[in-house]
Amino acid sequence: MPIATVNPATGETVRTYQPHSPEEVERRIAAAHATFLTYRTTPFDERARLMRRAADLLDEDRDDIARTMTVEMGKTLVAARAEAAKCAKAMRWYADRAERLLADERPADPDVQDSGADSARVVYRPLGPVLAVMPWNFPLWQVVRFAAPALMAGNTGLLKHASNVPQTALYLGELFHRSGFPEGCFQTLLIGSGQVEAVLRDPRVAAATLTGSEPAGRSVASIAGDEVKKTVLELGGSDPYIVMASADLRRAASTAVTARVQNNGQSCIAAKRFIVHADAYDSFAEDFSSRMAALVVGDPLADGTDVGPLATEQGRRDVEELVDDAVAKGAQVLCGGVRPEELQAGWYYRPTVLAGITPEMRIHREEAFGPVATLYRVANVDEAVAVANDTPFGLSSNVWTRDTDEVDRFVRDLQAGGVFVNGMTASHPALPFGGVKRSGYGRELSGHGIKEFCNMTTVWQR
Ligand code: NAP
Repeated sequence: MPIATVNPATGETVRTYQPHSPEEVERRIAAAHATFLTYRTTPFDERARLMRRAADLLDEDRDDIARTMTVEMGKTLVAARAEAAKCAKAMRWYADRAERLLADERPADPDVQDSGADSARVVYRPLGPVLAVMPWNFPLWQVVRFAAPALMAGNTGLLKHASNVPQTALYLGELFHRSGFPEGCFQTLLIGSGQVEAVLRDPRVAAATLTGSEPAGRSVASIAGDEVKKTVLELGGSDPYIVMASADLRRAASTAVTARVQNNGQSCIAAKRFIVHADAYDSFAEDFSSRMAALVVGDPLADGTDVGPLATEQGRRDVEELVDDAVAKGAQVLCGGVRPEELQAGWYYRPTVLAGITPEMRIHREEAFGPVATLYRVANVDEAVAVANDTPFGLSSNVWTRDTDEVDRFVRDLQAGGVFVNGMTASHPALPFGGVKRSGYGRELSGHGIKEFCNMTTVWQR
């Protein structure tokens, strides 16, 4: 895949980039390593000062970088601005809290004395240069949610971003540099996925984090496993959105639309499978599909656009194939199911709702990375749990009910890294984020996220 900005709203190639040469990659890895050796001991308040400066610069740059993101991957300008603001917030969140989150821990258990120690504590030390392989869908956020905690913990970062967002990737390298972080603290590598292995195997690279598809995750994790290096994987999702009979159905339907079409339908934590109790099904299906049909699809730079194009031509083809397969096997199209006729250029697809889904359909088990919802009718909570868990993924989940017993049941039984009750899944710096099953492992954000790339060191002393 060439490293290039190709505007998904027009299909036009805006700019192409030469990948970094092996010599340039070597120079950057060497800088990441050399800088780590001194940066790891910088005081927290100095790191925090630099991180707050990065947040301030990002706020100043918000309109420009938002436009760049929109041109590179098609999210609406409103969504792109919100993403930039969220990144600045996460940077400040970690700047304010990293020292406390990584404070030494003294185990309270009296049995520590039994080990023969006069005292014992746990100290969190940084690991070293961390390779971050990132996707295009939230081109700032995915990187910042790694970089803010990793840099605050004293690590350095090497970013291999998706090949279709090179301008955003280069901006991120510059942002941390302009903020005053030492040269080598955070650098962008302009490389294709074929060059990831060599970087990951380099002995100076300590660990890796990957956000992206399952095949990419499997590849990076197996190389890292071979090298015995720590990884965090944030992979795909096909999150259930369960609506029980007691739910506030209007709110459930209007939130369902946002949950499905946010980021033009290309979010790992988008609700993708809508599992509705039989007593609520007809009303929910009617309300949800009429709201989906009413969305404005069009130019992501224009005011009033709800849904822009898919980021790549291949991405639209993948979505079309999933829908066509389901329809050929008997699914009913409640709305959409086609490209918008009026938008000939660009990779647009109409918001789509499919009903009558059966296990033979590919969309039942595969992730639909576009504005396509599937509807399931269930008779009771047991069936809702069974359908929700009938997927290889386990990222997050959403449940709508006023029945506290049902809430307890979902929290106990849903196979996912999150259960959001009477709302939609969203990430927040204060809450851990990550999945189980084929959605990956490890956690980002919160105190859990910052510890992922730390050496949790036991100090035993007599
Ligand atoms: P992708 O094709 O896996 O690409 C993600 C990153 O991995 C890109 O930088 C890509 O580089 C690189 N890559 C691809 N194949 C690789 C390989 N074999 N070895 C090393 N690196 C490789 O995913 P995408 O299409 O950009 O993103 C969509 C997927 O990401 C969806 O499945 C979505 O659910 C998932 N996602 C998950 C989360 C989460 O937090 N769990 C968040 C967002 C997205 P190139 O661009 O150069 O190929």
